[in-house]
This record gives sequence, C-alpha cells and structure tokens, in this order.
Amino acid sequence: MMTSALPPIDQPLVDPQGRTIRYLRISVTDRCDLRCRYCMAEQMTFLPRAKLLSLDEIAIIAERFIARGVTKIRLSGGEPLVRRDVGDLVRRLGRHVGAKGSGGGLDELTMTTNATRLDRHADEMVDAGIRRINVSLDSLDAERFRYITRHGDLDQVLRGIAAAKAAGLAVKINMVALAGLNEAEIPAMLEWCVAEGHDLSLIETMPLGAIDEDRTDRFVPLTRVFEDLKGRFALVRDAHRTGGPARYWRVDGSSTKLGLISPLTANFCDGCNRVRLTTEGKLYLCLGHDDQVDLKAALRDGGIAGLDTAIDLGLTRKPARHDFRIASGSAPAVARHMSVTGG
Ligand code: SAM
Ligand code: SF4
Repeated sequence: MMTSALPPIDQPLVDPQGRTIRYLRISVTDRCDLRCRYCMAEQMTFLPRAKLLSLDEIAIIAERFIARGVTKIRLSGGEPLVRRDVGDLVRRLGRHVGAKGSGGGLDELTMTTNATRLDRHADEMVDAGIRRINVSLDSLDAERFRYITRHGDLDQVLRGIAAAKAAGLAVKINMVALAGLNEAEIPAMLEWCVAEGHDLSLIETMPLGAIDEDRTDRFVPLTRVFEDLKGRFALVRDAHRTGGPARYWRVDGSSTKLGLISPLTANFCDGCNRVRLTTEGKLYLCLGHDDQVDLKAALRDGGIAGLDTAIDLGLTRKPARHDFRIASGSAPAVARHMSVTGG
C-alpha cells in the first residue's frame, strides 16, 4: 500500500485567471444502478475495473489536494454508493474534516447520491464526519420517477432520504428541470422540501455525453421556472455562494434554500473554485471542456512529486469559462457524461 506524505500548504492552487481552487469533486465510479434519461443512455459502456484508481490512490490524490489548500471535497459518480468499500474512503477523508493545521484540512466532506442505498449508509456517513448530502430526486410521482430513471423505485429513495434525515444529515434535493416531464411538479417539490426541512437545487439540463434523446426537447430555462415560483412563494435573496453556477433564495418563514443552477442561462464561471477528478484518475479543469491531465499516471510514475507537477500543469489549462449551448440536433458540448466527471 502506498503512503501519503502531507507537507504543509506551500503551493496554493491558483489558476491563470487568479482563481484559487478550494473545491475538489471526485467521481468514485462511473457506474450507476439507475439510468436517468438526461444523464445516461440505456446501454452504457462503463470503464473496465482495471483502469480505475484504487480507493487508496483516490485518497492519496485527495490528500494532496487538501495539503495544497482544498477545503471542500464532494464524492460523486456515477452512483458513489455502488462502489464497494466506498465507506473506507469516506472514513479516511473524514479524518481531515475540521483538522485545520499546517498540513491543511477540510471544512467539508460531502456526497451526491441517488439515495437508492442511502438507508444502509447514512449512519456510517455521519460517523465519518459528513454533515450534508445532495440527493437527486426528479419526481415525487412513483411512475414518473420510474420513467425518468428508467427503473428506479421511488419508495426506496424516499426511505434513503428519511434515513439520512434521521441520522442528522442535512439534505439538499437536486432536481433537473425537464420540459413535459417534471416541470409542472416543481412547485410541489419545493413545498415538499419546505415541509421536510430540505433545500432544493433546480438544475438546467447540460449537454454532456450522448443519450438516447435530444436534450433540446427537454430543456427548461430556469429563468422561466423562477418567474413562476416567485408568484407562488415568498422568496428572499440569500447571499450564500459556493463558487459554482448557483444563485440562492430562501423560502420566507422556512429554513429551505432554493438554488438555481443555470449554467445555460447565467454564467458564473468568474468565481469558479473547483476541479474534478474522474474514477480513471483524470483531472478535468472544467465541466464544459475536454482539457485534462492524467493524475493516475503521474502518481504511479512519479509519486507525490509527479502528482504535484501534473496538478500544476492542469491548473495552467483551466479555461476562463464553459461554452455550453443547447441547440437542436447539435452534438453534446463534451462527449463524456456527467457521471464520468461527477456532477
Ligand atoms: N448518481 C448521483 C446522483 O444522481 O445524485 C451522483 C452523480 S449525478 C451525475 C450528479 C448530479 O448530476 C445529479 O443531480 C444529476 O441529476 C445531475 N446530472 C446528470 N446529468 C446531467 C445533465 N446532463 N445535466 C444536468 N445535470 C445532470
Ligand atoms: Fe445515475 Fe445519478 Fe446519472 Fe441518475 S443522474 S443515471 S442516478 S449517475
């Protein structure tokens, strides 16, 4: 087993635009037990297991990012909870939460999950130091949920969310707005989140990876959704920013925050503070571009020094902004699916 040396923060991660990188998203697997229509094709080819980073390698890379100033890590996928032993990784990274010192430390470790297996993992997550999770839930109607996910069981997901709440995890629901599918359900979803004490992030469908449909038909500009919600709920602007493409409001009289993730209709790349590691060990500098560096090869060939050199090279390639556009009949902006880079 490789060991990780953690020198103090000596080379902060600053890109050519002067943005300091503090947020690492890790796709721990590209596999998933669901097949959401906007995310994946029904028949997907997943990476062979031999190509994946081991969990130990993921931890070593993550710890190097922590040592260089990353303060927030999100585990995603694919579905992170389908990777066997992901609990070991959660526990190992969880040790860095709140461990600020000369070698860095995390303010937050979190996860994005579809919640199909959350009832079994919620307590373990809290024990490891996770305090907040994001759960994808595109409909509260069992049939519609099954249609969107191609075979998902809504009850199982709701059980997972309930277990997370009972374990003390704060839950943010991620809902991709889909014309003709769940758009009319958005106010009801917000009402449910208020009643349950969850936050809600609405997401514009992004042109990532080939699926079996044309995303243009399903695209909903969140500007339109927001106009509708403003008429139904008292929404108060919330100053909360994550360095991502989201703006936040709070439903007055409740703790529920409403986030609008609208990379297509509003661009917030100026404050971007994140990079993404794939399960194959590639570091992507932007969700909307193909530029990447191979951290797996760098680590295996050159150890921690090799890793640092590759990370520095990657930073020089971080683009100023994504160029997402949704146009009928056009190919996706980038060929890889969201599940490869971690949403
Ligand atoms: N399987 C987990 C889940 O669904 O929460 C984690 C991975 S999933 C790729 C992360 C987030 O990306 C989910 O909220 C999902 O709805 C969103 N997503 C996937 N494909 C997308 C796309 N093409 N456009 C916008 N959001 C997408
Ligand atoms: Fe799986 Fe999440 Fe993609 Fe749905 S959105 S197919 S749950 S990775």
